[in-house]
Amino acid sequence: MRAALKTLSSETYDLLVVGAGIHGACAAWTAARLGLKTALIDAEDFGGATSANSLKVIHGGLRYLQHANFSRMRESICARRRFLALAPHCVRPQAFAVPTRGSGIRSRAAMRLALALNDAISFDRNRGLSPSHALPRGRVLDRAEARAIWPLLPETAYDGAAVWYDGLAHDTERLTLSFVFDAAARGATAANYVRATGRQEANGGVHIVSVREELDQHAFAIRARIVINAAGPWWRQWLALPAQPLVGAWNIIARKRFFGDVAVGLESARIHRDADAIVRRDTRNLFFVPWRDGTMMGTVYEPFTGDPSTYRPSAESIAAFIDEINAVLPGANLTPKDLTLLHIGVQPANPRGVSPEPDKHSEITEGPRGLFSIKGVKYTTGLTVGERAARLAARALGRSDQLPPDEPFRTPPDDGRDLRALAARAVRNEYAVHLTDLVLRRSGIGTFAPPDRETREALARWMGAELGWSDALREAELARLDAHMRRVAP
Ligand SMILES: Cc1cc2nc3c(=O)[nH]c(=O)nc-3n(C[C@H](O)[C@H](O)[C@H](O)COP(=O)(O)OP(=O)(O)OC[C@H]3O[C@@H](n4cnc5c(N)ncnc54)[C@H](O)[C@@H]3O)c2cc1C
Repeated sequence: MRAALKTLSSETYDLLVVGAGIHGACAAWTAARLGLKTALIDAEDFGGATSANSLKVIHGGLRYLQHANFSRMRESICARRRFLALAPHCVRPQAFAVPTRGSGIRSRAAMRLALALNDAISFDRNRGLSPSHALPRGRVLDRAEARAIWPLLPETAYDGAAVWYDGLAHDTERLTLSFVFDAAARGATAANYVRATGRQEANGGVHIVSVREELDQHAFAIRARIVINAAGPWWRQWLALPAQPLVGAWNIIARKRFFGDVAVGLESARIHRDADAIVRRDTRNLFFVPWRDGTMMGTVYEPFTGDPSTYRPSAESIAAFIDEINAVLPGANLTPKDLTLLHIGVQPANPRGVSPEPDKHSEITEGPRGLFSIKGVKYTTGLTVGERAARLAARALGRSDQLPPDEPFRTPPDDGRDLRALAARAVRNEYAVHLTDLVLRRSGIGTFAPPDRETREALARWMGAELGWSDALREAELARLDAHMRRVAP
């Protein structure tokens, strides 16, 4: 599939998208549907960075009710419905619950009102969805009904539960890839392991983006009339712009379930230090999201400066988070031994300064002319923000930005545990280049816990057979996978 590289260096594109996380993948997909001649490159594998490391919640923005931000809610609700319709094989409905108590904003009466408003604002949430993917209305449970959800919580911690439904992208990796593959099926040229290293402008306003092919370090240039910069936390780095503050964010994955099949948000008290070392106490929601044979827990945010590729939470932060979980849920008895992996990502920081939360708003800025940069902060709205960027590109080119109706993606064949078939499909049809691509993103085998040695070696053997790897290359690929697993080890 690396034949695309020849095309990249010889054509002039309407649009080049740099970065294939969810924002770039959706921008390229939209551009291809608008009939633009589109190229999409990623320095590593498609969707392998922040987009593979979220809590996987495709949410309708219930939280934005607190700020009466209805337009943001509507955007999230529409994006959620479209994800559920486009990729039912990757996204499914998920029940969420929070405890109710007292007479304030967490009371049953307040939550009943919030859920009723949420249902009213999302009146069209199920339009066009199959019954298996429709989201039921929210509801408030009394204490006796709620007991079934949280047997681990002391009875004094709740007088009921508020339950609502969102989407869970149980396979975020495949979801992001689905946009890339569909864009390619519609004529876009897509290439992973091609890194943008700079940009200049030629006469006639064409952008010349210098790139480096990461496998053989071959340098060349891609010409495009418009460039969308969707490089996530690296969005300033490849343009050599001064760095801006970032936020490191992570979840822990444990081989334990605490609330059956329900995802739960609990309020936790914590001490948090800001950059000026002022200590203050505040609360945050900890989410426990059931996934595969266990639970994702998070999300922890901390200020970060430096190259996003190098971010990893410290052992102390991980230990403190385990303590925080045991404090809020004493019955959890969580220990480091229960953890299987960390999901680690980096996001743009809040420009207002020292908040440990990422920025709340996605932005698209233009400058210089014909270069649109996306600063995206949610996987959920990656669809609408990426789409908006591509429509801006179309308008800048004097082309129509009217999109055809969405069509569901093709469901990939189910290879089950047939590792040979998995490897063949990943290499021949799905742009897999390294063993990590197969283990982490084409099969998902290594995203919940590190695969055992036998599986790793079998996958390396089958992939090597497809790509003609020598023994030395196969060993190097296994070492590369091990290095990744060490980086995300708890
Ligand atoms: C721990 C965590 C939990 C989260 N939970 C949720 C959640 O539950 N729901 C939700 O909606 N959102 C969530 N988010 C936010 C969401 O994951 C991100 O906002 C989103 O994935 C960012 O996507 P992106 O496309 O902007 O960036 P990325 O996914 O990082 O993609 C950027 C891409 O650009 C590529 N790139 C970088 N430099 C170059 C270059 N020079 N040339 C070519 N390519 C380059 C990278 O390799 C990468 O693939 C969470 C985030 C984190 C970290």
